[in-house]
Amino acid sequence: MKQNDLGIFEKHESEVRSYVRGFPTVFHEAKGCRIWDMDGKEYIDFFSGAGALNYGHNDENMKQKLVEYIQEDGITHSLDMASKTKGEFLEKFHDVILEPRNLNYKVMFPGPTGTNSVESALKLARKVTGRTNVVSFTHGFHGMTIGALSVTGNAFKRGGAGIPLSHSYTMPFDDYMKDMEQETDFIERILDDNGSGVEMPAAFILETVQGEGGLNAARMEWLQKIEKICRDRGILLIVDDVQAGVGRTGTFFSFEPAGIKPDIVCLSKSIGGYGLPLALTLIHPDYDKFEPGEHNGTFRGNNMAFVTGMEALNYWKDDSLSRSIQDKSERIHAFLQDMMEKYPQLDGSHRGRGFMQGIACGVEGIAEAVAEKCFEHGVIMETAGADDEVFKLFPPITINDKDLDKGLSILQTAIEKAVD
Ligand code: PMP
Repeated sequence: MKQNDLGIFEKHESEVRSYVRGFPTVFHEAKGCRIWDMDGKEYIDFFSGAGALNYGHNDENMKQKLVEYIQEDGITHSLDMASKTKGEFLEKFHDVILEPRNLNYKVMFPGPTGTNSVESALKLARKVTGRTNVVSFTHGFHGMTIGALSVTGNAFKRGGAGIPLSHSYTMPFDDYMKDMEQETDFIERILDDNGSGVEMPAAFILETVQGEGGLNAARMEWLQKIEKICRDRGILLIVDDVQAGVGRTGTFFSFEPAGIKPDIVCLSKSIGGYGLPLALTLIHPDYDKFEPGEHNGTFRGNNMAFVTGMEALNYWKDDSLSRSIQDKSERIHAFLQDMMEKYPQLDGSHRGRGFMQGIACGVEGIAEAVAEKCFEHGVIMETAGADDEVFKLFPPITINDKDLDKGLSILQTAIEKAVD
């Protein structure tokens, strides 16, 4: 769809057509995994605000806590002053998330969005190591500010900045060269070769599953190897868990099954629990080196998001949500395998893990056609990958069987129509 083709976007999306999404309707109401537009048409949400709505829309408990907080004139904006809710959120985050996982981090509030967390991580790694460059990976995505773009693979998105971005090296992500040994040997060789033109970097930054870049999921062994490469050379490992974190892959942090311990972790999107903006940067205590004022901002920490985010942490007090995500992920996997067998016209290959799976289609335009047909039949779904070649199943992690079944059945219809 071309810029401003439809008046609807001018009026209801943004007056400058900067977003990519082109659903030709106006949304109004949402509950759980369902969204309704102004005409009352219902959609199953297989998109979850790109990971900002992992717990679905308008979760009852979070809503109740938020309403109570507002009714009691709880402080909404405290800038970076101490607040009761902030303290309680931090305490609960340590109790429910970090301590049971034996993770030792200090929590920083870098600003309202994921990009802010990435920026703070890049700045901190450079400050701590005294080195300048950062290694990022093919097809990675880390945000839209210039620092975050400099470690983003997508040429179209980088191009938007209009200037060449330096001080970053792109290395092959897992499976880029179809040979893990080759990829990691290459990385080691180029780092250790004084004549390679690659200076020893401050940090590696990576997503364990590349959300925008096409749902490329790193293998656990690759992540372990990368961690070792970093440790052996005094390089900090930054895991950007903005999209793959907060339960998306079946564990709270996406890197848990690999058993690695990043030096810095970026979190945002669903950490506030209710679609409210909140970002955290988790910093190993050894690297707590920002001086006051070196990284600040007006909206660092949002008291309303602390209220809902705190409520969301209750989902992680036991492993029932985690188990449910893992069980349903297996069903999604089986469904996608079945689709690839039934519809060879997709020329598909499976991508991702957990609640971020999809199919990379070998035929140009098919993934977009699937997403378009999904919309027509009542499922909101997005595409991913450099050429939008992947259709991406991204339902709320709290979805029930009934909604999941309905969404999958609509998706099958959409595939059938798209390949027709
Ligand atoms: N990192 C990753 C992995 C992301 O997926 C995103 C957003 N899609 C960002 C960073 C940037 O987050 P935000 O849009 O909240 O600034």
